[in-house]
Amino acid sequence: MSQWRSTPEGRSWLRVTGSVTVAVVVMAALFSALLAPREPGKATVARDRKERPERTAPATPPAPASSPRAAPPRAAPLTPAVPDSIQHQAETPGRAVNITFDDGPDPRWTPQILDVLRWHHVHATFCMIGPQALAHPDLVRRVVDEGHRLCDHTVHHDTTMNHKPLGYQESETLDALAMIEEASGGARVEYFRAPGGAFTPGNRARAARNGMRPLGWNVDTKDYEEPGATAILRTLRDEIHNGPTILFHDGGGYRGQTVEALDLALTWLRAHGYAFSFPKVG
Ligand SMILES: [Zn+2]
Repeated sequence: MSQWRSTPEGRSWLRVTGSVTVAVVVMAALFSALLAPREPGKATVARDRKERPERTAPATPPAPASSPRAAPPRAAPLTPAVPDSIQHQAETPGRAVNITFDDGPDPRWTPQILDVLRWHHVHATFCMIGPQALAHPDLVRRVVDEGHRLCDHTVHHDTTMNHKPLGYQESETLDALAMIEEASGGARVEYFRAPGGAFTPGNRARAARNGMRPLGWNVDTKDYEEPGATAILRTLRDEIHNGPTILFHDGGGYRGQTVEALDLALTWLRAHGYAFSFPKVG
């Protein structure tokens, strides 16, 4: 099979081929060097919100490049890990509050909540249940389009998840993240709020590793008890000294009182000099 190599012609051809190969390699290198400076924005583009890190630990090994079913090469994880302690503080310094909603999105109440926020020019954080986000992607996209932020509130809203195996907690958290991302068209999910505050070091670490800051609250308006809009406002006023993060609900039941109370609360807060912010991520 290698007979041709032993002939002078063969060796000569090999030498020529070798020279051509060297020339091609040199030219390719030159082209690469010339082109490289034109792509300084590539890393920035890759940091677009649609890029997500590996979700599981340990990471799934990448498919071999030769596999016909291999997915297109994916950028290295770029969402930076965030602190895993529970955040309550606002990004805006001084007198500022973070308005947060849990248990949505809900096709009846979330649009009304969004309308009230828009009237008051206030942005808020929405802690969503994964399957509800998947069922109402239009609402998730409206939340994002109107400048609000997303928060992962798990798949099943299991307030006893902190007593269950870490693998379960992980799937509750990361499966919901995937659902909310899919519904939103790839928007960043900035926070993780365990249902009922069922945080554990394990679920906080998993969330933080995926770029989601564990998010607590300082003021529970108890709107879910349906005490009436003025009572919800009174609770907020009585407890606002606790800290800046205020908890409402846009899902999980009748929320007509929340819609009404939110309008009162935003008016009262602004009249008393409060700015509106988001919880700190980093
Ligand atoms: Zn909840």
